[in-house]
Amino acid sequence: MTGEGNGAGAPRLRLVLATANRDKAAEILSILRAELGDVVELLGRPEELSEVEETGETLEDNARLKAVAILEATGVAAVADDTGLEVDALGGAPGVYSSRYAGAHASYAENVAKLLADLEEAGAEGAEARRARFRTVVVARFPGGREVVAAGAVEGSIAAEARGTGGFGYDPVFVPDGGDGRSFAEMTQAEKNTRSHRGRAFRAFAVGLRSAGP
Ligand code: IMP
Repeated sequence: MTGEGNGAGAPRLRLVLATANRDKAAEILSILRAELGDVVELLGRPEELSEVEETGETLEDNARLKAVAILEATGVAAVADDTGLEVDALGGAPGVYSSRYAGAHASYAENVAKLLADLEEAGAEGAEARRARFRTVVVARFPGGREVVAAGAVEGSIAAEARGTGGFGYDPVFVPDGGDGRSFAEMTQAEKNTRSHRGRAFRAFAVGLRSAGP
């Protein structure tokens, strides 16, 4: 693991964030800063690196592919995550294909529109028929091959229509259980982080990182 002084005497772990998605990077930074303070120095993904193809069959495979690619390119430990939305009425789709549900370069809005159309076609009406969950897997890979792996999920349902302007991706149609009926896109970033799949996965990751030691 690469460490360096932080001026206060404590070793500081350097981790490159593998995601090129600014929305996700902002969420991850705020979660890890809250959990780990300045124990970890998070570096942005070098812009000149091309996107890693997500050819794995599972979220963990894809997270590992991204972390290994960044570690190999930079020589610095890297952390990557992969997320899928699993909708019961659609047999678990879009799952590992969440980013390209409506096509290879689909926009968030196109993916959401396809999801709502597919649920309508499936005759899934009401929260119970529209059960879903977000699942995130985080993989950090260190020089020498050591890994810290963590996961997190949030249960909820797919709303009848998009609501709210916050967040990204499927947030306007995802209503988490145990809340007040608002979609993730109607919540503040802090409210989403408290209960989200990514918040849970990265908090578990922070615990794993601390117990793994330098
Ligand atoms: P990724 O593999 O983590 O980049 O996520 C795949 C896709 O899932 C993204 O392109 C988004 O459409 C969706 N997604 C991931 N995380 C979230 C989230 O927190 N809210 C809503 N959609 C998300």
